Amino acid sequence: MFKAVSPKVDINEIEKEVLDFWRRSRVFERTMSEREGQPHYVFYEGPPTANGKPGSHHVLARAFKDMFPRYKTMQGYYVLRKGGWDTHGLPVEIEVQKELGIQHKYEIENFGVAEFNEKCKSSVFRYITDWEKLTERIGFWVNLDDAYVTFTNDYIESVWWILKQLWDKNLIYQGYKVVPYCTQCGTPLSSHEVSQGYADVFDPSIFVRFPLRDKPGVYFLVWTTTPWTLPGNVAVAVGEDIEYVQVEGPTADGEGTEQLILAKNLMNKALINPENYKVVKTYKGKDLKGWHYNPLYTFLPVEDKDYAYVITGDFVSTEDGSGIVHIAPAFGEDDMRVGQENDLPVLMTVNSEGVFIDAVTQFRGLWFKDADKEITRDLKSRGLMYKVEQYRHSYPHCWRDKSPLMYVARETWYIRSTEYRDRMIANNQKVNWVPDHIKNGRFGNWLENLKDWALGRERYWGTPLPIWVDEENGDMLCVGSVKELEHLTGRELTDLDLHRPYVDEITFPNPSGKGGVMRRVPEVIDVWFDSGSMPVAQWGYPHVVENQAMFQQQFPADYICEAVDQTRGWFFTLHAIATMLFDEVAFKNVICLGHILDGEGKKMSKSRGNAVDPWDVLNTYGADAFRWYLYTASPPGESRRFSVDLVGEVVKKFWLTLWNTYSFFVTYANIDQWTPDTPAKPVADRPEMDRWVMAELHNLIRDVTQAYETYDVPGATRPVQEFVEQLSNWYVRLNRRRFW
Ligand SMILES: [Zn+2]
Repeated sequence: MFKAVSPKVDINEIEKEVLDFWRRSRVFERTMSEREGQPHYVFYEGPPTANGKPGSHHVLARAFKDMFPRYKTMQGYYVLRKGGWDTHGLPVEIEVQKELGIQHKYEIENFGVAEFNEKCKSSVFRYITDWEKLTERIGFWVNLDDAYVTFTNDYIESVWWILKQLWDKNLIYQGYKVVPYCTQCGTPLSSHEVSQGYADVFDPSIFVRFPLRDKPGVYFLVWTTTPWTLPGNVAVAVGEDIEYVQVEGPTADGEGTEQLILAKNLMNKALINPENYKVVKTYKGKDLKGWHYNPLYTFLPVEDKDYAYVITGDFVSTEDGSGIVHIAPAFGEDDMRVGQENDLPVLMTVNSEGVFIDAVTQFRGLWFKDADKEITRDLKSRGLMYKVEQYRHSYPHCWRDKSPLMYVARETWYIRSTEYRDRMIANNQKVNWVPDHIKNGRFGNWLENLKDWALGRERYWGTPLPIWVDEENGDMLCVGSVKELEHLTGRELTDLDLHRPYVDEITFPNPSGKGGVMRRVPEVIDVWFDSGSMPVAQWGYPHVVENQAMFQQQFPADYICEAVDQTRGWFFTLHAIATMLFDEVAFKNVICLGHILDGEGKKMSKSRGNAVDPWDVLNTYGADAFRWYLYTASPPGESRRFSVDLVGEVVKKFWLTLWNTYSFFVTYANIDQWTPDTPAKPVADRPEMDRWVMAELHNLIRDVTQAYETYDVPGATRPVQEFVEQLSNWYVRLNRRRFW
């Protein structure tokens, strides 16, 4: 007898029974233990951080993560599903800073780095129970009892081992480079972080007169959108082959004339009332090379260097502005490059909080962005401002605190990832991306335009950069394991917490025998390096000897899945590290998920207040309908609308149809006392209608299996829905009479 089915169904009750059964019979554990010795299918969990509650977008990711390991398990594979937690990094620090009500780094130091890091550590599992409950309720099978945790010593030591491999390949260097820098967080951001924070803003667009030193009454017309960088100006750049004109026109007060030099093509755009000007001379850019002007500001000493003259640069264009570009090596990538080529001084006018230093007397104490106005006003009052406009453009902001980034020269640590660019591009061709266009689009472009990886973070809660420096003679070494550190110090360090400040206290004499004391550099590393190291570090490879075989067995992954913005985050760091270490892919198949939108198609966010609490959906319609909606609503790479009501549609249109069909079956199977072991007639002897539905079923099995094999999620789900439709509306309806 089949268990009688009530047409008045309580979805939550049914799902609870299933969950109880899974728990009681340890079904998830047995999907692994009973597959020992079978071929492996490898899944990597992209680690979330449990310092916030999980939302609907986490259900999206976890539903898709579950799909293929579950399928492969059912196909007979052994699928180890190790969980993971990302626990370091600035986002964690910022949350703790908010709690403590502190904003600046010196306040953290006053509070105590040990105490601060202790708070960070305890904050990262604050919502772990919420995560565990939700994960179980939605039926995502992942082993959270044996999850990797990025703050453990074993994990950190593996990351050190990786860094040491890169160090030995001469891939880690310290460079004076212009970096995007957040003045609030007090740290540079890596390019994958920068790409997450672009916003449209209005900035000043100003045209300034730079008076020629040797030709009174003649000015270079110079364009800039960052007035605050003008006190750092040391040169102007022109394009070697661009045509320039010297024009004569009225002065601002209309009482005299002045002459301006600018690109010929930009006369109409840059000049006020261009019809009032006449060309008196023309030049090629290279003719202007070396001409001096009187610097606008002279706050900082320039030692013995020549400056305030015209140089040439290949980045000068005649698209916008005046064709003459202001150069401040401290505040621009091109500026730094041509500054080094021309041996120009670097005028650092601001401190690490983006505030003008005391030497810049007139503007001291001003935050860089606030100085735009003051400097504009000053240039106006001195008669040097030609024209002030506003312009709207896309500018990078800190993805955490939304403050505008400052491009500034910093001494920091880099990974020379560009040296492996070609290998990364080649390895990318081996990866199956879903959707396909990501491979040579979003991800491929990212690799083509790869920059060196800014590794260092001047922060506290992270994996410490294991480089020790002898300040007396500059000797450096990279430590790849605790054992190595014990060897260098002659101390037993098994109980050492590898975090700051404890690791900072570890010093030792320079092993070369000459020089002084080796001290660790103050930086921690980019948190994305942590998660990108997980194929290696989740096993504590290589120092956890008993896990070495596990690393081999579980590398690379057959399947990973995250939101599409991870092309510049985790997808990239996994790929980059695997290529630099092993010249191998880290994953073979990857699904990139689009964003989750509200019922009206607007992006869901906490600040908008339109985020749907996943528990509202689960408590109303259950996990099956929730997941089914996510799989079928749109292909994984596209954004999908989401609301409680939309999931309700799944229940009405699909779930209840299936349920009623089953209910019909149970009723008549029980009346006829039919059981599954009743011998069946050969298919050929059955009525046409039965043969038709069997054929449809086998088509369905073929199509769905094929779709699973190619990571085609709608292809693996939508046909099931269509089949149920046919089963109910055709097969059951037309055969009703036969079963009565
Ligand atoms: Zn910031």
